[in-house]
Amino acid sequence: MDGYMFTIAQARKELDQGNISSLELTRACLRRIEALNPIIHACLLVDDEGALAAAALADKRLKQGERSDLLGIPYLVKDILMTKGLKTTAASKILENYIAPYDASVIARLKEAGAVMLGKTNLDEFAHGASTENSAFGPSKNPWDLSRVPGGSSGGSAAALAAGLCLFAIGTDTGGSIRQPASFCNLVGLKPSYGRVSRFGLLSMTSSTDTIGPLARTVEDAAMVLGVIAGNDGKDATTISGSVPDYRRELIENKKPLRIGVVSSCLDSGLDARLRQSILESLESLQKAGAVIKEIDLPYNKYSVPVYYVITPSELSSNLARFDGIGWGLSSPESADLLSFYKANRGQGFGPEAKRRIMLGTFALSAGYADAYYKKAQAVRELIRADFQKAFAEVDVLLTPTSPHPAFKLGAQDNDPLAMYLEDIYLAGASLAGLPAISVPGGFVFEGGEELPFGLQFIGAAGQEIEVLRAAGFWEKINNYFERRPNI
Ligand code: GLN
Repeated sequence: MDGYMFTIAQARKELDQGNISSLELTRACLRRIEALNPIIHACLLVDDEGALAAAALADKRLKQGERSDLLGIPYLVKDILMTKGLKTTAASKILENYIAPYDASVIARLKEAGAVMLGKTNLDEFAHGASTENSAFGPSKNPWDLSRVPGGSSGGSAAALAAGLCLFAIGTDTGGSIRQPASFCNLVGLKPSYGRVSRFGLLSMTSSTDTIGPLARTVEDAAMVLGVIAGNDGKDATTISGSVPDYRRELIENKKPLRIGVVSSCLDSGLDARLRQSILESLESLQKAGAVIKEIDLPYNKYSVPVYYVITPSELSSNLARFDGIGWGLSSPESADLLSFYKANRGQGFGPEAKRRIMLGTFALSAGYADAYYKKAQAVRELIRADFQKAFAEVDVLLTPTSPHPAFKLGAQDNDPLAMYLEDIYLAGASLAGLPAISVPGGFVFEGGEELPFGLQFIGAAGQEIEVLRAAGFWEKINNYFERRPNI
């Protein structure tokens, strides 16, 4: 029994009954990484030694009778979260040799829970992107079809989990970066509400929309991970106070009828016709299974991509200003004066997309333009938020596609920033409004002889992770897409 394709819930049972040890499970994942990482390039760093030590410790705790959701479960984490003593690069040359001096709160919580960290996964540089092609260290590949992207920016996490390199993976989602790769790799990807999970130790992208969450094989697994990483944190003043619900129990026990709002504008001509057809059929099966379906209009949602691409560059241009080669980041040895020192460090350290966004954001925030761009975008953001609020007076969750199409070919859009930004069309709204959202396996289409997965998204009201998990769990029970694994 190798176990690398287990769900967390399956592994939990085997570990608790003593049929497998955490060391065995961890070794199985490490072997899988050794065999497949050269092909899919999902991991930037593998910490064999640390993982084996953590697994041995988990086995000891298990022997002493301890039982908890993630004890002994191997996982990988996006390389934008601080991991004490290990390189944390954000897939950028500017942090190529940076070693984190402390653990992010999420990492500390997972450690305490006894989860076993195997290493760090690839991403678009500083999480700017939707394909991992913006990684300074080369793209990851989609295990369903190696000629395609796994999505991004948490593409390394998604590719790794889909290929069986770990049992769950941690990603970040600022404008879709957990949900879109989940959709391209047939996984569950949960973006929590803004503030549900501490951002302490996350290298900031867009501070007002950054979130951290799980990529998992099932909805129950996602609930188990969220239960461990969620909660108020004194180190992040934006975290939601109050106790964290028991997501897993709610998922299993909460049988309230489900009211689903379909955002009809998301099913229009921008969507791949095969996906539209399949989603219409899914709606029928949801209804047959007892869900109440209602059409919902979100009139301002069409502005979410333009608003997102003003606010995001603005915030990140300011966040990335700290990488000057003095306090942080690549430091070139020789420069005639301070300005050329900055230019050398930042010029060599940042890739083209980070530079593009720094320029866009600096412009949008500059005197004379901030009112027309940044402030206007913030005003429209409030209208987008209000649209959602109105909708949640009528329904428990909203349903949209996750992405307008299945995974695209490597290189197909990397010279077209606009096409890449449109990847976020169904995703940016929930991010701007700070809402929880989940992508779940939604079906498959045939393309070039390959079967490619795509995702369905459920969005909930702020703080209502339970509702999105419940909707996702309801959907999971009426299809078998979740069980499919790529042939790799
Ligand atoms: N595709 C989006 C972007 O490039 C999402 C990024 C993210 O969520 N980190 O900004």
